[in-house]
Amino acid sequence: MGKLCSFLENHKRSFPIGLSGNTGMGYILTGGISPLSRSKGLAIDQILEIKGFWGNGKEFHLLRPNTKKELTYEWKALCGAAIFLGIITQVKLKTQPLRPLLSWTANLSFAQLSECINQAESWPNSLSLQWIYGDDIFAHAIGEIKNAEDEPVLIKLLERLPFSRNRIINKFNNMKALPNLSLGNNNNNNLNHSEVLGLLGPAWQEKNQQVLKILKELINKRPNKSCYIASQQLGGLTHLNDLDTSFIHRDATWKPWINGAWEAHDQAKRKRTLEWMKECWNNLEFICPGVHLAQIHPHLEWHKKELSSAFKDWLPNLQQIKAIYDPRNIMPPLK
Ligand SMILES: Cc1cc2nc3c(=O)[nH]c(=O)nc-3n(C[C@H](O)[C@H](O)[C@H](O)COP(=O)(O)OP(=O)(O)OC[C@H]3O[C@@H](n4cnc5c(N)ncnc54)[C@H](O)[C@@H]3O)c2cc1C
Repeated sequence: MGKLCSFLENHKRSFPIGLSGNTGMGYILTGGISPLSRSKGLAIDQILEIKGFWGNGKEFHLLRPNTKKELTYEWKALCGAAIFLGIITQVKLKTQPLRPLLSWTANLSFAQLSECINQAESWPNSLSLQWIYGDDIFAHAIGEIKNAEDEPVLIKLLERLPFSRNRIINKFNNMKALPNLSLGNNNNNNLNHSEVLGLLGPAWQEKNQQVLKILKELINKRPNKSCYIASQQLGGLTHLNDLDTSFIHRDATWKPWINGAWEAHDQAKRKRTLEWMKECWNNLEFICPGVHLAQIHPHLEWHKKELSSAFKDWLPNLQQIKAIYDPRNIMPPLK
């Protein structure tokens, strides 16, 4: 995605990449939630053509339907569930004009995180908040400056956000240049292994304090210092549902993800961390009923549950499509 961003910058265009320039095609195929998704939609919403091979070896080349009437099950399945069905060899993507970005980063106290989430839930679509909570709390708000009148409005909103230290408001040319959402201690060092589970749910609103209390308890009992819970903000055009896709949680406002880490090759610690992750999921499910399958876990016992939370009523149709196009389960399982 970083290379895509650099290439497009030369042509004064951009693409809503995610929080890292290092991700590849999987970012686009699994939904692709960008800090700009609230104004641009998901990465799958930018797909105009898709080419590849189904699991059964047959080649396909599909064009984005112009109307709901022209929508096929195959298009809907490929937009968000492609990784279960075939190998994608080419996509044609819609791009956007390159515009400057505003970035606000700061360390927060627990109460300040609650206030930031509250404020973000009434922001315009051009701003989004992401945060990470582990040893410390770090937040990153990102906004796109569409025109000269926009900038002071966005800056005013950013200046209202509380912070405890290290607040920086800066301007960047493209997504790739933005600072990382990181606590500094979770660089994927070789000493740790990890799993990530992405959840999806509505705005917290009056449940804000309740959810944060649960988060605090979970963080306090995390089994390894590198475990954390972070979140991205959706809403606005992410809710766009002009053409059905396999990303069914269009009403989601937050995508919290649980990062479970343990010392490499220590099976007992791995088990403890996976149990902590399950506890996080169980305790947050009331506010995050959905799952974002940016990471899949066919090797874990919760794969069945993650599939049903990701695709809900659409799952049986996906399974039928897979039975036709990948009958030998060459691609990851949908059961
Ligand atoms: C640092 C970091 C930041 C991230 N930030 C975001 C974010 O902001 N928003 C977001 O939505 N997600 C984010 N993710 C999640 C990321 O988008 C997913 O993990 C994604 O699946 C990664 O894709 P990949 O191609 O880089 O990885 P891979 O591990 O190569 O692929 C991931 C999955 O996609 C399948 N796949 C890849 N290419 C193809 C293909 N051509 N055809 C069929 N299947 C294919 C693979 O088989 C695998 O199952 C982030 C991940 C990391 C590590």
